Amino acid sequence: MIQTQISAALEAIRARITSAAHAAGRDPGDIALTAVSKTQPWESVEPVLSLGQRVFGENRVQEAEGRWSGRRQGLELRLIGPLQTNKTREAVAFFDVIETVDRERLAERIADAVQRLGRSPRLYVQVNTGDERQKAGITPTESDAFIATCRRVHGLELEGLMCIPPAAEPPGPHFALLAKIAARNGLRKLSMGMSADFETAIRHGATSVRVGSALFGARR
Ligand SMILES: *Cc1c(COP(=O)(O)O)cnc(C)c1O
Repeated sequence: MIQTQISAALEAIRARITSAAHAAGRDPGDIALTAVSKTQPWESVEPVLSLGQRVFGENRVQEAEGRWSGRRQGLELRLIGPLQTNKTREAVAFFDVIETVDRERLAERIADAVQRLGRSPRLYVQVNTGDERQKAGITPTESDAFIATCRRVHGLELEGLMCIPPAAEPPGPHFALLAKIAARNGLRKLSMGMSADFETAIRHGATSVRVGSALFGARR
């Protein structure tokens, strides 16, 4: 998309977030927009930055470092893609938020990297709400125990939960399930909702929505 289209798309998404918040009786200020910049060329990201967008989501550690190293001041960078155990240290050193904590080995590595580096990103547990075989995330039935292990065994301070509902199902019940798991575990933040369903996610309590293609156009 050309720059003026991207600017218009950003304004439109902000307006839709505001209306969805009002419709749900929520304060729009409680819902952050994560602009998913993965695979996008810099010409597409630049206009969004210049309109004041400060939170960006990336899927891969190395791609994110390539795009943002040296120009990340004042920004919040969130890892929203699966994290390989051997990239843990790099991710802990680089990201402000890791949204994809989903297995004990990874929790252990993150705790170790936090100790060594003396810095901790804010952390979210990814829940595979649809119990999909190919998808990352802890299953809903294992989530309470996993959250407890992250906290008690690994000393991790968790901020919230994240999910990606199955593509072929209505997302509402998945968002409701994520909100329920968060509430019973004392977690206040919910990263849920993408281009096709962020308004539904806001209705179910999303505190951040991850929008890529509706903002930047289709990914290459
Ligand atoms: C790519 C991606 C998004 C953005 O998806 P769109 O449908 O393009 O908005 C959101 N969340 C995650 C985890 C992603 O990988």
